[in-house]
Amino acid sequence: MAQIRLTNTRTRTKEDFVPIDPGNVRLYLCGPTVYDRAHLGNARPVLVFDLLVRMLRHVYGAGAVTYVRNFTDVDDKINAEAQRRKAAGRPGTLEDLIAERSDETIGWYHQDMDALGALRPDHEPRATAYVGQMIEMTRDLIANGHAYEAERHVLFDVRSFRDYGKLSGRSVDDMIAGARVEVAPYKRDPMDFVLWKPSDADLPGWDSPWGRGRPGWHIECSAMSAALLGPSFDIHGGGIDLQFPHHENEIAQSCCAHPDAGFANVWLHNEMLQVEGKKMSKSLGNFFTVRDLLDRGVPGEVIRFVMLSTHYRKPMDWTDAKAREAEAVLRRWRGLVAGIEPAPSPAPAVIDALSDDLNSAGAIAALHELAAKGDGAGLLASARMLGLLLPEMGGWAEAGDAAADQIAVLLAARLAARQARDFATADAIREGFAAAGVEVKDTPQGPEWSLAAGFDPARLADLAKAHGA
Ligand code: AMP
Ligand code: ZN
Repeated sequence: MAQIRLTNTRTRTKEDFVPIDPGNVRLYLCGPTVYDRAHLGNARPVLVFDLLVRMLRHVYGAGAVTYVRNFTDVDDKINAEAQRRKAAGRPGTLEDLIAERSDETIGWYHQDMDALGALRPDHEPRATAYVGQMIEMTRDLIANGHAYEAERHVLFDVRSFRDYGKLSGRSVDDMIAGARVEVAPYKRDPMDFVLWKPSDADLPGWDSPWGRGRPGWHIECSAMSAALLGPSFDIHGGGIDLQFPHHENEIAQSCCAHPDAGFANVWLHNEMLQVEGKKMSKSLGNFFTVRDLLDRGVPGEVIRFVMLSTHYRKPMDWTDAKAREAEAVLRRWRGLVAGIEPAPSPAPAVIDALSDDLNSAGAIAALHELAAKGDGAGLLASARMLGLLLPEMGGWAEAGDAAADQIAVLLAARLAARQARDFATADAIREGFAAAGVEVKDTPQGPEWSLAAGFDPARLADLAKAHGA
């Protein structure tokens, strides 16, 4: 059995992964706040965890893994959108409009992550369905002296938890100096964070011992992970941007509410997807969505390949050049494995790479070696371990095959038109190619073509039909 090793942010070392219960390996990934489309950076933790889950299932058995990823559907931006719709005269209560907005974004999220070949988690709890558990946990934290009520808020008392700051390796005083903390007169310490806050009449709210209000963000994950995985589980993850304060606060809440449990053993953090050296984020405005790329004709499988080409602990950039290269590689590999049955198991080199802290870049290098040796069966079984070359992910390549036939017909028609000095037809074909996103270069060896990022298969099919295909 392969020994998986993972870099644990909590201990800052690469460790042998030892599950609490090998019959039920449990992991939790902080999911999206569902107020808008996911940007490409948001897909990175999803793909890292997707690969991790595939590896854990390979090692411990398909039924021996429980994967939870939440939806944060308590959020001011969701509320603001619902209020905007209400003001614009949309029918329904504010609660209805909030649910409508969340449902809409969750639907998009599923479509987009499905397109990248990410498996759906076993549980996808919505925060709004666990408010009862959040209230209970908050009450326990007050009862055992780790939280206090002040002006209809409940705050976590960071000075009451000795290990506060341990995950990110900072003291409370360092944090105060370095962080943007919300200063409020009712806080005992500026680092104290909200477990519960009051809601005005025009905001969603739940009845609680502290009046009508809503939970803070951090308590959501503590309550949902405890409800679905128990107070101790194996792996907790998210982007490195969540390490502080979100994960630090989750640890404080969960460890103080369940003092005899360990919360998450391993903390796994992915580095950021960047744009020109800066984290891609909604607030910086330097983002594009997964849907933008898919709509531009970049196949989900290509996006997945590019993402997995960089190790999860390294920052990475998205470039169109990487996407074009990935597309060419996948097209070649799909040609190589056409009509071939996969080998009974993935190649050892691929499993070794993935066992070593999910070295997906190393695994892809091993796939290249299998392809170079012409080992189609080994390549297929191994690529599928990474969620690549799966039949359901290959629609784009078939569209490419159809395109190759249509382009051949059109190039022959263009040649015939030129020879007949029918330049109007030759020009129409040239313009049609450009409009459909097919780039044609005439070389001394004959025409060479490639599909541009905005390739439009329907337009190409129409053009081919108009010229005799
Ligand atoms: P959010 O909806 O902003 O809470 O983010 C959802 C997930 O995406 C979290 O795990 C974040 O850490 C992660 N994330 C956000 N921006 C990036 C980025 N640029 N690169 C990688 N992961 C990111
Ligand atoms: Zn979380």
